[in-house]
Amino acid sequence: MSFPHHSSHDSDNDCCNCCEMIEERLKYAENSYTRKSNRKMNRLPRYYILPAFILKSNTGFIDSHCHLDFLFNRMKFVGTYADYRIKHKATFPNNYRGCIAVFCKPSTFSKVPIWQKHLDQENVWGAFGCHPHHATAYNDCIEESLKIALTYPKVRALGEIGLDYSSRNKCPKEIQHRVLRRQLKIAFETRFRVVIHCRDANKDCIDILRELLPKDYVFHLHCFTDSWYWAQKWLKTFPNVFIGITNLVTYNSAKLTHEVAKKIPLNHLLLETDAPYFVPRKISKRIRWSHPGMAIHVAAQIASLRNITVEEVLYWTHKNTIIMYEL
Ligand SMILES: [Zn+2]
Ligand SMILES: [Zn+2]
Repeated sequence: MSFPHHSSHDSDNDCCNCCEMIEERLKYAENSYTRKSNRKMNRLPRYYILPAFILKSNTGFIDSHCHLDFLFNRMKFVGTYADYRIKHKATFPNNYRGCIAVFCKPSTFSKVPIWQKHLDQENVWGAFGCHPHHATAYNDCIEESLKIALTYPKVRALGEIGLDYSSRNKCPKEIQHRVLRRQLKIAFETRFRVVIHCRDANKDCIDILRELLPKDYVFHLHCFTDSWYWAQKWLKTFPNVFIGITNLVTYNSAKLTHEVAKKIPLNHLLLETDAPYFVPRKISKRIRWSHPGMAIHVAAQIASLRNITVEEVLYWTHKNTIIMYEL
């Protein structure tokens, strides 16, 4: 298999700085929240991580969305993911079973060594797609390298693609729309599942997906941070959508995410870390980056919010991950 090479004008920085912005806002909100005198009124129900950590579940969990390339970059880790797991053994729970590694920076599509070493690991599957932050970098050459990367055996989805209208994304909307449309056409033609990144752009995103995909298309709306109103809109418009919740749910101030985590039907829920972003609130402030094992915190917090067992959350989310990523 040959991979075309092209020169890239991208910087080597990671793409998802919108996730970092959400984290910053969250920490700020969290600080002011804890200063409020009425904080006990609607406090987020606590979860106990130790029982979840050592739980012997039948299914275990797969982190449905992480960025191993960014994680290794941030931590300056050289070696394989197996090496990483050995080094951080104490922080991977018993139930960890694998992860979906997303490669969304277009300049990496043709740089095989960056992603192949991750996808060749046991229980690591992949997704490729141009993130809306990089929409202006998308061209015919990138598209060609994307199509080729998608043929790699352990690739299970096209994404993350979508729209991001948050203030940190400087790509003009029209360009984002064009790039999203082009990639959705590829997904539909090749029958690839899709991973959607949608930030402050629900209406346009739903409209474009409706225009290009059948109503029953299976896709993952990742890192959902919006309201229950919008979650319902997505569920109604696309009955086979899976909605991903990250460790944002562990923060007292993430009220919208708590409501979604409580109300979403369990057969539509996915656990994800979006690692290296969204470190669980309970983890020491000294830990700057999250990893795929930390999806257990999402499960434990959701179980506590819904007053059900962690096992039940793992059962459903594992099943949903298998369906979504055809594992
Ligand atoms: Zn994203
Ligand atoms: Zn992501």
